[in-house]
Amino acid sequence: MRLFSLTCSDLAREMNRHYGKGLHHAAAIYREIFKKGNDSFTEAPELLRSPALAARLAEDVRFPSCRIVSLQQDAGVVKFASTLHDGLTIESVIIPGNGRTTLCLSCQVGCRMGCTFCTTGRIGFARNLETEEIVWQVHAARFALGYRIDNIVFMGMGEPLDNFDQVLQAVRVLSDQRGFDVALSHMTLSTAGHVEGLHKLAALRLSKLRLAVSLNAADNRLRSSLMPINRTFPLERLAESLRGFPLARDGVVLIEYVLLAGINDSRQNALQLIRYLVDLPPVRVNLIPYNADARSRYRSPSPEHVREFASWLTDGKVFTRVRHSHGRKIMAGCGQLGATLAS
Ligand code: SAH
Ligand code: SF4
Repeated sequence: MRLFSLTCSDLAREMNRHYGKGLHHAAAIYREIFKKGNDSFTEAPELLRSPALAARLAEDVRFPSCRIVSLQQDAGVVKFASTLHDGLTIESVIIPGNGRTTLCLSCQVGCRMGCTFCTTGRIGFARNLETEEIVWQVHAARFALGYRIDNIVFMGMGEPLDNFDQVLQAVRVLSDQRGFDVALSHMTLSTAGHVEGLHKLAALRLSKLRLAVSLNAADNRLRSSLMPINRTFPLERLAESLRGFPLARDGVVLIEYVLLAGINDSRQNALQLIRYLVDLPPVRVNLIPYNADARSRYRSPSPEHVREFASWLTDGKVFTRVRHSHGRKIMAGCGQLGATLAS
């Protein structure tokens, strides 16, 4: 049994099948590992009373074989790299903020979407993460590194909707009240616009889960040149899937827009964006000034121009914020994960 891939009721079902035991023992295991952060569950009072069961479980329950191999910090932001059972490496970022601590999770080793401005996209794709490897990142941040982690964003390496089943099971495990207990409203799944995945996600009606879409251009030609996924799922289809998307009553779709100087930051680009957003559900735009890496072919606009672009959107009645990535010095900013793995 892979504990980190199971919700408490999944675990109870497995316990029932294998040992004729149920929720009572499953909840004890869950509490020890996911609430208290213990390495072992055999000391739980419920299991001390059933030593034979504890011994069998100790044999059968498997933990992910992941290991933190490096840790870097810059102005409170912590980036950690972990190796997986097959020697591959992923990165995750802890971002303390006012009143909440966010963990930016990876869901794939690399990414196959190939966005031209993204470091992760450039290293290519190795494989999907298993649910347990996604969940493990939260466990490591909370218990090995000691951060509270009350907010989770799927904005690290990879495209979450390209690894749909494993990511959604991780969402279920992480929101389980008997374990990590991160509310769905404190989780944001970010997609490059995987329309097929959006339809599947819509059908699950997890309306509290927050959705972010990396738009980056509101013109098909430009967007396809920056984000190859736009050739498969062009802007019209993306808009259509967002219009049908179940959102919480106060729910908004977060639109991410990386500003690339001279590429997508003109007044015309802003007007196109405003026009595109008019027909969508309520949105909030996050403008992310481009984060460079060693092999960058793009530049970030000046801070004045970023402010000007933001004011064009605001004038068009679009709620807009500029989001400066934290941790750029340690290559922990948006789109920079994997830089140390790419060399
Ligand atoms: N694959 C998903 C989740 C990763 S989120 C997605 O693309 O949405 C990564 C975010 O960082 C995306 O919004 C992306 O547009 C942004 N990004 C990628 N490269 C960047 C860079 N070099 N500078 C700033 N933001 C970048
Ligand atoms: Fe993948 Fe997102 Fe980077 Fe595009 S921006 S390559 S989808 S991680």
